[in-house]
Amino acid sequence: MSNQYDVIVIGGGPGGYVAAIRCAQLGLKTACVEEWINKQQKPALGGTCLNVGCIPSKALLESSERYEEITHTNAGHGITVTGLEIDVPTMIARKDKIVGQLTSGVAQLFQANGITWLQGRGKLLANKQVEVKGHDGAVNTYSANNIIIATGSVPIELPIARWLDTRIVDSTGALDWEAVPKRLGVIGAGVIGLEMGSVWRRLGADVVVLEAMPDFLAAADRDVAKAAQTQFKKQGLDIRLNSKVSKVDVTDAGIVISYQDAEGEKTLTVDNLIVAVGRKANTAGAIDPASGVAVDERGRVVVDDHCATGVAGIYAIGDCVKGPMLAHKASEEGVTVAERIAGQKPHLNYDAIPWVIYTHPEIAWVGKTEQDLKAAGTEYNVGTFSFAVNGRAKAMDQDNGMIKVLADAKTDRILGVHIVGPMASELIAQGAIAIETESTAEDLARMTFAHPSLSESMHEAMLAVGGRAIHGVNRKRK
Ligand code: FAD
Ligand code: NAD
Repeated sequence: MSNQYDVIVIGGGPGGYVAAIRCAQLGLKTACVEEWINKQQKPALGGTCLNVGCIPSKALLESSERYEEITHTNAGHGITVTGLEIDVPTMIARKDKIVGQLTSGVAQLFQANGITWLQGRGKLLANKQVEVKGHDGAVNTYSANNIIIATGSVPIELPIARWLDTRIVDSTGALDWEAVPKRLGVIGAGVIGLEMGSVWRRLGADVVVLEAMPDFLAAADRDVAKAAQTQFKKQGLDIRLNSKVSKVDVTDAGIVISYQDAEGEKTLTVDNLIVAVGRKANTAGAIDPASGVAVDERGRVVVDDHCATGVAGIYAIGDCVKGPMLAHKASEEGVTVAERIAGQKPHLNYDAIPWVIYTHPEIAWVGKTEQDLKAAGTEYNVGTFSFAVNGRAKAMDQDNGMIKVLADAKTDRILGVHIVGPMASELIAQGAIAIETESTAEDLARMTFAHPSLSESMHEAMLAVGGRAIHGVNRKRK
């Protein structure tokens, strides 16, 4: 086997494996270096997303939501259940099975596309060479005309709350508890804090989330964040904003967290603690400075708007570069880089990348928030529509939430779509398509949406931009 490739991808997560597949489709001789060893102690592809991120978290969110539905909401439907039991190990095993199916599916795709999987840890050297240290300790060096760095990210550890067996954990640890913690603390009310906090609250834990910032979900549109916060409070998810953690002590009584809020010093005692204060680029030790590739003060590979580093033929994508840490962003960057290597001129519209938080209700958005538009001095119109008067949402017993559309006041072009409510993760694709195709609110207002469907709320929000929603109050705002 020759050690020379057209492309070597370092990292086999949703950025790297997708890039590798697209390179192979385009006729490039491709290898992907991946070091992941899974729970079963086997090498695995799929990265954070498939192994310990997007997929396992959604599997547990689904199981826990079903449990909560049975315990909390079915009585109104005339359905009562007695003798209900919860079997957490089975829940975890189901999650692990899904992970196994999807990660081995990626290995099959590699085989089908003729991609070489170099198992072990890769390091980028000078002159587009990659050293790979195999799991057996053997070291080999490979070279390529093009290299894609896709090494992803790792959780940030707080010096005051170091990882401690199954008690003080990151998101990975919180995906593997085999029993429901009685008292659970979470540091960070970001995406992971909310998703994992929701899983364990639904299963019966008393969950307190401590967030340092005064605003809830600062990146989301304020109206949507406020509506979501109200729902979480009703559910009993205790989110304490403006709470700065100063100390974490492990005692016989539990984990004692000292924090300061507007009222002064407080303590909280829990049995388990999830630290979810963000993730950082995973580039330490993976890039020899002799390669010429620059890394910023946060460990991210420095790239231009086409994911090119300063060294010709070397690119970086996904969580290890600037931009949101999202699997679909990583994958689309992988596709565009592969096509650029093959001589094409692809384009990725960063303004049309959707965000989804898979809580209940789900939160999703794409494009600009109202606060973004205000800060930029852009004139806009707003259309909102509540799920409370959507027939399908009522039938589903999920009529909390709303859709909010922001459109340019002069051109009517859709600039942002924000959803809190049922199936927001699916509905947001309509907003992404609208932004990508430069549609106006009028364009969508003129379309026919199936009745009864949740999408009718999207239609009505688009109508509301022009002050003509049929089933709602039209409040045209600027
Ligand atoms: P990664 O998935 O981190 O993959 C990088 C890969 O590179 C890893 O497999 C690693 O082993 C390998 N690697 C690193 N260094 C080397 C090296 N030197 N040699 C060989 N291999 C190496 N995003 C969403 O869009 N939707 C979600 O619902 C979602 N849920 C999430 C839930 C959780 C709990 C977490 C933690 C994250 C979630 N994310 C979600 C974020 C998502 O997982 C990441 O944005 C995504 O995985 C980034 O893809 P990537 O390919 O850049 O990096
Ligand atoms: P995050 O950036 O979403 O949230 C971290 C939160 O912790 C922030 O609100 C921050 O203000 C707070 N924080 C930071 N330091 C703190 C401290 N010392 N005390 C209290 N609060 C503190 O990060 P995350 O939740 O760890 O998730 C990491 C990344 O993973 C996210 O950027 C996201 O892109 C990705 N992710 C995405 C999804 C999804 O798309 N559904 C799900 C999970 C994770």
